[in-house]
Amino acid sequence: MDRLQKVMARAGVASRRKSEQMIRDGKVQVNGEVVTELGVKVDANKDRIEVEGRPIKPEQKRYILFHKPTGVITSMSDPQNRPVVADFVRDLDERVYPVGRLDFDTEGLLLLTNDGELAHRLTHPRHEVDKVYRAKVKGIPGADALRHLQSGVELSDGWTAPARVRLVQSGKRESLLEMTLHEGRNRQVRRMCEAVGHPVLHLQRIRLDFLTLDGLKTGHWRELTRTEQHRLK
Ligand code: URA
Repeated sequence: MDRLQKVMARAGVASRRKSEQMIRDGKVQVNGEVVTELGVKVDANKDRIEVEGRPIKPEQKRYILFHKPTGVITSMSDPQNRPVVADFVRDLDERVYPVGRLDFDTEGLLLLTNDGELAHRLTHPRHEVDKVYRAKVKGIPGADALRHLQSGVELSDGWTAPARVRLVQSGKRESLLEMTLHEGRNRQVRRMCEAVGHPVLHLQRIRLDFLTLDGLKTGHWRELTRTEQHRLK
């Protein structure tokens, strides 16, 4: 249940402020009754809401590609007031949710949407959507460690599915791995690398399906184009 003016704004009727004025002016009906108070709560899916006699449209679908910085919680609110994703994506009329999650210390690509079906498809391992990570790890993983990561690692919640793993770069003390997973278990990349003796020092998600961070600075977001939206579905 949400406030009537919020539901109107989400449906693209007008801004919240203007929607309030329309309510006060007696232009809005809920289930056939004119409502002029501002406190009224409605269910956008069940209640019949009409503005000047016309039913409002269902909520618009939004698809936001966000470059999450480290030190931010993948959540839209936090009872302890720590930085959250919602702090960076203000002024959206629609309520969007993160698709999957990145740890507090992980940066990179995070999709936000109010399209529940798409969110489900992108997160369910059955659909085998690529999630590509760049992990800076301690030491230089040898052939055995790489094979182990690729074929499956036993974690406290079971064996991981086969993954694509590539050693991109190695220095004296640390290396850069690129890992492509279809699963999205809690802290999975960190736990996998730790399990083969190469703890993660820095982690970034660089791709989700065909979406990349190209041109998107840390802390910034953009709306997916129509073509991208169709390609994802
Ligand atoms: N794997 C991790 O360990 N952390 C993330 O944030 C995402 C994948």
